[in-house]
Amino acid sequence: MDVDYDVIVVGAGPGGSTAARFCARSGLKTLLVEKEKFPRYKPCGGCLSLKTVHLLDFDLTPVIENDIWGAKFSYCLKEPFFIELKEPIVFMVMRDRFDQFLKERALKEGAEILEGERVVNVQAKNRGMEIELASGERFHSHYLIGADGAESIVAKSISLPPDRDSSSDLGSGVSHKVIGDGFLFYRLNSQEVGFIINYDIKYRMGLGGEETEEEEN
Ligand SMILES: Cc1cc2nc3c(=O)[nH]c(=O)nc-3n(C[C@H](O)[C@H](O)[C@H](O)COP(=O)(O)OP(=O)(O)OC[C@H]3O[C@@H](n4cnc5c(N)ncnc54)[C@H](O)[C@@H]3O)c2cc1C
Repeated sequence: MDVDYDVIVVGAGPGGSTAARFCARSGLKTLLVEKEKFPRYKPCGGCLSLKTVHLLDFDLTPVIENDIWGAKFSYCLKEPFFIELKEPIVFMVMRDRFDQFLKERALKEGAEILEGERVVNVQAKNRGMEIELASGERFHSHYLIGADGAESIVAKSISLPPDRDSSSDLGSGVSHKVIGDGFLFYRLNSQEVGFIINYDIKYRMGLGGEETEEEEN
């Protein structure tokens, strides 16, 4: 079968860029397709765990905004307790800069990219995979990696069931300057969790919740 690429990766978030980096490094002709033009804002707490930092085998210093050595926890807004460690437990990034950095690493290893191009359909064809872009352009590959996030068009196109029902989950996040330390709230009311994270320049606040039967009534 004639193919344009060995591997096409849909989505240039951390998952997609990292997959593309490994594929290109292994000598595979790799195309990364991303619907946004980077750098782009992405709602996210931006906490990188130590595990993630160790998995990424290059220096992340240029995109680390802050390191976190402890956390203040509160349950149902009761008296908080504070845990502090002898080394950083998480590193903070802004996703626009972090994702752009990872994307550049993939390109450095030889991956190609189409940015600002939305994949609208995916299908198995001639013992390979075909993607169709919103522009109508099509590309063929031996393998396809779907790294296009929670509303994945790749997963929908090949009828992969969602991991779980998230239709009743709610979440929101803002980046704003606030006064005081970072804070983690667990169970503000029943199912909600929240956080305020201290950055050098900015603070990140987030709130998440799940609709319960009790609240529906
Ligand atoms: C409010 C909030 C806070 C969070 N906080 C944290 C945290 O502090 N730490 C942490 O580790 N995780 C956090 N997460 C989870 C984290 O954001 C995700 O785990 C992570 O973004 C997943 O990376 P990914 O590369 O798989 O997908 P994504 O980051 O979602 O990237 C998918 C990419 O695919 C692109 N795309 C989508 N559809 C198409 C298409 N049709 N064609 C082409 N491109 C497409 C998108 O534009 C996007 O760039 C948070 C999530 C939320 C919602």
